[in-house]
Amino acid sequence: MVELNYQKPKGTADILPGESQLWEKVENIAEKTFREYGYRGIRTPIFEDYNVFARNVGDTSDIVEKQMYDFMDKGGRRLALRPEGTAGVVRSYVENKLFGPEYPKPYKVYYMGPMFRYERPQSGRQRQFTQIGCEALNSESPQIDVEVISEAIEFFHRLGIDNLKLAINSLGDNETRENYRKSLIEYLEPFYDELSEDSKSRLYKNPLRVLDSKDKNDKKIVENAPSILDSLNDYSLKYFNEVKSLLDELNISYEIDSNMVRGLDYYTHTIFEIMSDSDAFGGDYVTVCGGGRYNGLISQLGGPDEGGIGYGIGVERLLILIQKENPDIIPNDSPDIFFAAADKEGDNLAFTILDSIRKKGIFGEKNYQDRKLKSQIKEAFRVKAKYYAVIGKKEVESGEFQISKEGSSETKIIKINDFKDNPQKFLN
Ligand code: ATP
Ligand code: MG
Repeated sequence: MVELNYQKPKGTADILPGESQLWEKVENIAEKTFREYGYRGIRTPIFEDYNVFARNVGDTSDIVEKQMYDFMDKGGRRLALRPEGTAGVVRSYVENKLFGPEYPKPYKVYYMGPMFRYERPQSGRQRQFTQIGCEALNSESPQIDVEVISEAIEFFHRLGIDNLKLAINSLGDNETRENYRKSLIEYLEPFYDELSEDSKSRLYKNPLRVLDSKDKNDKKIVENAPSILDSLNDYSLKYFNEVKSLLDELNISYEIDSNMVRGLDYYTHTIFEIMSDSDAFGGDYVTVCGGGRYNGLISQLGGPDEGGIGYGIGVERLLILIQKENPDIIPNDSPDIFFAAADKEGDNLAFTILDSIRKKGIFGEKNYQDRKLKSQIKEAFRVKAKYYAVIGKKEVESGEFQISKEGSSETKIIKINDFKDNPQKFLN
């Protein structure tokens, strides 16, 4: 026999029963919250044409330049596993002409699913991870920016997570960035020799990336860099001021981080991160939600010159946070009733009762291994069944059985047919 030893790829995870309940809970709350804000689900492919992410403008971010799982397929097409959700959604928006007059404006969608980045795996950082995200396309209004931020915060609130920090910044429009580019290059040029290799090569292509460098020395150099907020032109400044005053109006507190640029090149105007310093992450601030406006992206992907804004939430990190901050949210998964059979007749009866009550929405269980009665009852306790019942020949003959409530001395005698007709009535 060949010895097999298969393991999941590095940086991936199996989500097993026990953990999947919390995933489903989070997905359900997301779906409900987003629907109430007017967002509908969208499901786009997990892989796309490489250029959906890289585009011809040449994205210089780490995510695109270094972390993409891209490959040639058997037909010679260059494809990439999606590293993030927005670009695929925008590609779909353009391809399906969802900007047409017959569609709502803004066009609001949400998604949940796997993303792929070639990174060094560690706690809360994987190669396949999951994002929940929202996008509001065709939406150039400060109200939408604030609505999107408010929605994300409300989602966290419904998960029982309130101790969060919101950081915002504005990257302005194209003119702003052109102005800022110049002053940033002017500031960085004297440090050229000290910059990391990445930052050297990005200095002229996209100096904003230098602000996002993870290199320690780069970080020190950019500490005193000019603020992009000083380069905002009239429109961008007015837009940013409106976003801030609308946040105030909704009593959402925020900090301005003028050095924040975010991990992708397509952002314009408002960008934001929601962070937690929970003990779950060792007390340092960790970003659990990142997003922003992308007014050039729709046209870069062949659509009209419209704006959009959205965000992504990393679900793995979110679950680490929930498990620490609000573990009570984890759904109770124990059976409503467990049948222990005293004999063959009882076992058969349990089998048919279960079939009836499951059709009425009750989670019932039994044992299938011909165990001794005592060990069946033990199993009922082990799985924390809310009620348990012992049935056998006697119950088959009388047409009645007794249920006992776990952890109490309360028992009830019930007619089997009544129970099958309306199990809910007896199990509360
Ligand atoms: P970071 O600075 O932590 O690498 P990022 O800026 O690359 O984050 P985004 O692209 O903004 O992250 O993605 C939004 C969220 O997705 C992050 O805040 C994080 O919760 C999650 N995320 C990003 N990369 C990973 C990963 N490799 N594994 C798990 N979650 C991730
Ligand atoms: Mg990253």
